[in-house]
Amino acid sequence: LMHLTRKLIEIRSILLSVDQKDGLKLPSIVVIGSQSSGKSSVLEAIVGQEFLPKGDNMVTRRPIELTLVHLPTENGKAVEYGEFPALGLGKITDFSQIQRTLTDLNLAVPTSEAVSNDPIDLRIYSSRVPDLTLIDLPGYVQIASMDQPETLKEKIAALCDRYIREPNIILAVCAADVDLANSPALRASRRVDPLGLRTIGVLTKMDLVEPEQGAAILRGNRYPLHLGYVGVVCKGAARKSGDNMGDVARRSEHNFFSRHQEYYGQSSSLMVGTDTLRKRLMEVLESSMASSLHGITNAVQLELEEATYQFKVQYNDRKISAESYVAETMDALKARFKDSQAQFAKPAVRARLKSMLDDRVMDVLEQLYWPDARTPELSALVADGKLRVEDIEPYWRYKLDAASSLLTKSGVGRDATQLVADGLRALIDSIARNEPFNHHPRAAERLVQLSHGILRDRMGVTSDQVENCIKPYKYEVEIDDREWDEGRTRAVELFEREIGMCETKLREIRKRVGGSRKLNRIVDYVKTLEENEKERKRRRIEAGEGETSTSAPEAVEEYRYSPASIVDARHARLYADRLAVLKFRIQTLKGKRCKAGPNNDVLCPEVFLNVVANKLAYTSAMFINIELLDQFFYQFPREIDSRLIYDLDRSEISRFARENPAIRRHLDLQERKEKLEHVMQQLQSLANLRKDAQPTPRRS
Ligand code: GDP
Repeated sequence: LMHLTRKLIEIRSILLSVDQKDGLKLPSIVVIGSQSSGKSSVLEAIVGQEFLPKGDNMVTRRPIELTLVHLPTENGKAVEYGEFPALGLGKITDFSQIQRTLTDLNLAVPTSEAVSNDPIDLRIYSSRVPDLTLIDLPGYVQIASMDQPETLKEKIAALCDRYIREPNIILAVCAADVDLANSPALRASRRVDPLGLRTIGVLTKMDLVEPEQGAAILRGNRYPLHLGYVGVVCKGAARKSGDNMGDVARRSEHNFFSRHQEYYGQSSSLMVGTDTLRKRLMEVLESSMASSLHGITNAVQLELEEATYQFKVQYNDRKISAESYVAETMDALKARFKDSQAQFAKPAVRARLKSMLDDRVMDVLEQLYWPDARTPELSALVADGKLRVEDIEPYWRYKLDAASSLLTKSGVGRDATQLVADGLRALIDSIARNEPFNHHPRAAERLVQLSHGILRDRMGVTSDQVENCIKPYKYEVEIDDREWDEGRTRAVELFEREIGMCETKLREIRKRVGGSRKLNRIVDYVKTLEENEKERKRRRIEAGEGETSTSAPEAVEEYRYSPASIVDARHARLYADRLAVLKFRIQTLKGKRCKAGPNNDVLCPEVFLNVVANKLAYTSAMFINIELLDQFFYQFPREIDSRLIYDLDRSEISRFARENPAIRRHLDLQERKEKLEHVMQQLQSLANLRKDAQPTPRRS
């Protein structure tokens, strides 16, 4: 039947990882006792090794889930090692290292927290231990010391209360030399198990009381426990290390009880000695496990049915794995990336660059032409024939060259490359921000980094290359009729758009101010203000007064309208002036002379500049495509493969997949179902074994 305990211990630890539901818990032995009652000594005596943290202030701060697994001896030699499954340290054969690790884990609990509910999972495999699960809990604090937080006492009591619930077996450790009435362990156990049906009393330090008295306590007449008391002497058991430490301690314990044969001998039918305690624990745990078997099988069955149902309903039995999720995500990423390539096809890039340059052309016109008082000359030629081209040609030729320079030397290489790179950045940012990468902040960050890395590498080269290739346009631009015609059409469109914009602005202002008549009044008023101001200045200068003269009572007048309206009126004037120029010029652009062709470039700077902008856009797009886009779309998917995925190990893949809540839920349910299925199989085979082992009733 030893088989049963062992199997159920395995099952117990799987069930603990499924969830902490009470119904799915198999019993374990919970060790409680006050500080210095000898709790550690007893545990170490059971294990036969010194492994628990010691030291003045070394109060256990986290529960230790101690699983003992019996191993057969190898060639007559005992095998012995420990493992912390959660830490991945592998087999630890040096028990002082286990002790150090436990000390570190305890010290890692912040002092402000005092104790932590999070258990430490420690497994000890040894030829000397039976199959047992024991949970070591912090010792009850009797007197709170200065450096312990006030709440420590209550926190420990609460933690112990959680563990001494059913179906666990309580090992209540009490020192024989302390009145049992004062034992916090017995008191706690009595509250949850008044008859002592699942409490074993352990009396430590039996050597410190007279045998007569010791035997009396063991008989348990005063504080009866159904499972009884076991008396032990563990002095020194925990104080000597080495392979035979257990033996020495056992011998001295054995000697002690033999010396007092008349009290503790077989005839007394009292339970004494660590070996007896161990056997007792095995028996109790085994019978407790056996009686839990039926209940736990039913509980697991129910949970499994529920999990199976949910898996069918929610996921239609579709199985996934972290690996497949990662692969799918990366495929989707690359597909998305590939689709976006169309956005960066040459015509699209050209159009974007052109629109950037169109704005620049408008800026140049605004800077050089519109404020020029002679601008009407350019159109007057069309209106009346008074001015001859030859007369004005030099001035406007010079102006046109300046405008063209301003456009071609404005850093087109840098800005165009920047514009396209910004587009690529925006694309990657949007991929990184959206499903499913919004769930994977670290991977998203990495995507962004990788893309920026490539862009950084390519930007300088590209921008130089573009600048180089547009160089000829800085000196000479040849234009054929077709190009001119296209440029003119485009210039007209741009002017119409600009006119539309100005009109909209004006409409808005009109509405804000309260109608066009009111706006006109304010505009007139602003004009008078300005004229008055001019007049005053003139007079002041005539009178030899400085600019600093203070007498300006008219300023009060400003308050006839609100400051906001005054500002609106000033803007309205600017828009109106701009509209006048634009409308004036669009007439010319649509007129005969501009239609005539590239020979009239001086008279139609808008068309000329538009054609230049078009050539710049065309050339830039071509080289940006070669130097930046092709490289980027080639390199990025490869970097994803080599620097995003192949870096991940198994646990990182699982962590990555679980960052996505939908995938985490799916995986959780799937794993839960699989674990329950596994447990169910094990439970069923155990039940079958037991059925076979039971003698078949003979027919009478
Ligand atoms: P814990 O605080 O409950 O874990 O108690 P320890 O196991 O650390 O023991 C407290 C003290 O009691 C230590 O100094 C042990 O050496 C001592 N001690 C433990 N068991 C016995 C025993 O059976 N006999 C005697 N005389 N001392 C013991």
